[in-house]
Amino acid sequence: MTIASGVRRISHWIGGKDVESTSGRSGTVWNPATGEPRGSVDFASAREVDLAVASAKDAFPSWRAAPLSRRSEIMFKFRELVDANRRAIAEAITLEHGKTLPDAMGEVARGLENIEFACGIPNLLKGSFSEQASTGVDVYQIRQPLGVVAGITPFNFPAMVPLWMLANAIACGNSFILKPSERDPSASLLLADLLRQAGLPDGVFNVVQGDRAAVERLIEHPDVKAISFVGSTPIARSVYESATRYGKRVQALGGAKNHMVVLPDADIAMAADAAVSAAYGSAGERCMAISVVVAVGGIADPLIAAIRERMAKIKIGPGLESGNEMGPLITREHRNRVAGYVAAAADEGATVVVDGRGDPASARGPHFLGTSLLDNVKPGMRCYDDEIFGPVLSVARVSTYAEAVGMVNENPYGNGAAIFTRDGGAARQFQFDVEAGMVGINVPIPVPVSYYSFGGWKASLFGDLHMYGPEGVQFYTRAKLVTSRWPDPASSRVDLGFPQVR
Ligand code: NAD
Repeated sequence: MTIASGVRRISHWIGGKDVESTSGRSGTVWNPATGEPRGSVDFASAREVDLAVASAKDAFPSWRAAPLSRRSEIMFKFRELVDANRRAIAEAITLEHGKTLPDAMGEVARGLENIEFACGIPNLLKGSFSEQASTGVDVYQIRQPLGVVAGITPFNFPAMVPLWMLANAIACGNSFILKPSERDPSASLLLADLLRQAGLPDGVFNVVQGDRAAVERLIEHPDVKAISFVGSTPIARSVYESATRYGKRVQALGGAKNHMVVLPDADIAMAADAAVSAAYGSAGERCMAISVVVAVGGIADPLIAAIRERMAKIKIGPGLESGNEMGPLITREHRNRVAGYVAAAADEGATVVVDGRGDPASARGPHFLGTSLLDNVKPGMRCYDDEIFGPVLSVARVSTYAEAVGMVNENPYGNGAAIFTRDGGAARQFQFDVEAGMVGINVPIPVPVSYYSFGGWKASLFGDLHMYGPEGVQFYTRAKLVTSRWPDPASSRVDLGFPQVR
């Protein structure tokens, strides 16, 4: 990273050092709070991606051979360094993403959990052993790293999502190339520097900045063995299809439309607190944000009243200004796109209960938009069908539990779904019925802890394995089965029959 004539230049991290691009392509990184440019990020050419892959490939054999205790020790040191630098990482996130500082600190805390999980790698990579599978024959399974693996991450969690991937990938003995979002690339370089300080050998972790061109080269490069992707559904689908065509192992997590079903017996205050927190936190730019409240029976009117009351108190402003609870959106184009859904909602037949465009907060800068609430929203309306990814909450009214579950299950996305109720039997039925990968019972954002794995169903995940936790370890390793015999030479003989248990 260099600073020339007041513009920060954000470049790649290859082989343990900053490498400036010669591609001639770059993008502007904005400070969403001011609407001013904050830096310029290099976009890698295919040649620069190849350089990173070559560096990762060179580093792989000795990293793979490093004792488990050494890998674990580096993860412990990395954990300490990230912990000590929480605030610096969070500030970098706030400056480029716009989320409030406490929210960014929360992101770093959740990322730390993934490093903590990876510290236990010696235990996680224990294989299995069957003594005497046949007379004098033992069978065992070991898991080995894949080689060079790559991760492509979205703008909305510039530290946590990279940590979902890199902690396990590296601890398992792979070398890793991160292609972060070009909108908030600085956190990736802070993590790179902390990994270096933790003692990670050069080349085991690399960052290539860039856009589609870098992603396409990573996918087609023959030395890249696996792709982890997190982003919007259309791109996740195309990354999955293309990586599969190249014969790669791939997990591609996509977008979401998370429903929160509120049954008539729910505690209204608690449901309203949860809906407001989960819909407007991080300005709705979370893949686990609640975007639709499905109000069952007569609960809609009192619930909407309680939600409005809470919305009116949300403090909106720059993320570094203390006391603010919601910041700006990532770009002005995205802000205008989100505002467009609110503008079109009434024509589609929805009721605009609160129009965030008129909120004084919307005048704070070109990336700011107040919170909106839409009622009488139905499938078929754009505000229901599309992932808005902004501070807009929709309410859909249904008469029965069956209608509510039907609506959730017919939605093409299946990341998270929540139910609010005081009835344990209804909650258990929901857990059984609902087609979503992560379910909350009186919990609006059920992001699993790091010792479970994260992933949605349907159009929210392409691939078989979920991310981080035990499935992450599985994704970044492959199984090898060994059948072993140490025979007494006296018992050895030629036998052309198929091996059988004797
Ligand atoms: P995005 O799909 O625009 O970008 C994601 C990554 O793909 C970025 O690194 C970007 O540079 C790269 N990219 C962009 N265009 C590409 C192309 N044509 N080909 C290949 N790569 C390309 O997503 P975003 O706007 O950065 O992030 C928001 C989206 O991510 C939302 O849809 C959100 O729901 C989703 N998301 C999902 C999860 C999850 O776990 N399911 C988590 C976080 C975010």
